[in-house]
Amino acid sequence: MQQNLLDLDAPALTDYLAGMGEKPFRAKQLLRWIYQTGESDFSAMTDIALALREKLSQCASVSVPEILREECSEDGTRKWLLNVGPGNAVETVYIPEESRGTLCISSQAGCALDCSFCSTGKQGFNRNLSVAEIIGQLWWANHRLGKNDEGNWAISNVVMMGMGEPLLNYANTVSALRLMLDDRSYGLSRRRVTVSTSGIVPAMDRLREECPVALAVSLHAPNDALRDVLVPINQKYPLKELMQACSRYLEHAPRDFITFEYVMLDGVNDSVQHAHELVRLVGDVPCKFNLIPFNPFPNSPYRRSRPDAIARFKEVLMRADIITTTRRTRGDDIAAACGQLAGKVLDKTRRTRALQNDEVGR
Ligand code: SAH
Ligand code: SF4
Repeated sequence: MQQNLLDLDAPALTDYLAGMGEKPFRAKQLLRWIYQTGESDFSAMTDIALALREKLSQCASVSVPEILREECSEDGTRKWLLNVGPGNAVETVYIPEESRGTLCISSQAGCALDCSFCSTGKQGFNRNLSVAEIIGQLWWANHRLGKNDEGNWAISNVVMMGMGEPLLNYANTVSALRLMLDDRSYGLSRRRVTVSTSGIVPAMDRLREECPVALAVSLHAPNDALRDVLVPINQKYPLKELMQACSRYLEHAPRDFITFEYVMLDGVNDSVQHAHELVRLVGDVPCKFNLIPFNPFPNSPYRRSRPDAIARFKEVLMRADIITTTRRTRGDDIAAACGQLAGKVLDKTRRTRALQNDEVGR
């Protein structure tokens, strides 16, 4: 069987090559070719000995998942649908901004956690993505978008906020993160790589020890009664434990704050009282809030909060000296906004149309 080199982080690649009798510096050369140059053809890797190039051509490959579809939004957002095996597809979203290019990466096909407002959760859990399928999303996007005038890849920031719960695919997520961070591969700063979690407390502690990167925590409710309903994993890791895990995380984190994500659901979690309760909940955990106006999907039970409710909510947090931003909806004309990723191959056209009809009143 062929070894996909995208499945191997630097130590694993070094071991793999050692098994072929090769020295560690070969791993460094290969990483440079694959990630810094974006090369997938061994025969083009000219500073690698011919015999090794030929051996690799026979027993290894650099393979990203098949791209089933590319969609471009009016605002420049792009979304790719990737084939990850029979009946399974995941989505990757590129969000261009003036001073950075952000890639939103998926970690699982589907998600087991079934948050009540999330389209990915509604499809259930299919499987974990491999390292190659995770890092392959970044490899593909860079390959597709190319380098800028300064010779840097288009993607400067990565957020693990696509489909799935990254911390429930811990080992593969961490290997992929290491490839993003390692100077021999992409060399992204830890501050520019963000893992978003619904609050898997033991895995947050492991990540802090093993591969600290910027952390976003999907909070969505200020008390356990409401969070138990919106984010059912809260029944296992309730808010008190989650807040303590956030404080612990910050002891090692590359950033000195946690980003709390909070989806704004009309009449559910968006009152001024909820905002005051949130301020009490976070207490002295250094944090910023990112309010995400709910993005609807077919048959979703919620409505997006009204702009005046969002403004009042934000005001309460800001008065408590918590920096709060409202996430601008990007790419919703191609169903690429937060929580709209479903990865379904079949009903895309219908879904996009349904969303466009739903634009009225937003
Ligand atoms: N599983 C991880 C990462 C993927 S979800 C997590 O839950 O954090 C990325 C973000 O999108 C999360 O904050 C999630 O709560 C939010 N989200 C999910 N569905 C949404 C929707 N319909 N509208 C707006 N945001 C949503
Ligand atoms: Fe899974 Fe995150 Fe969606 Fe919850 S919000 S179902 S954890 S992907």
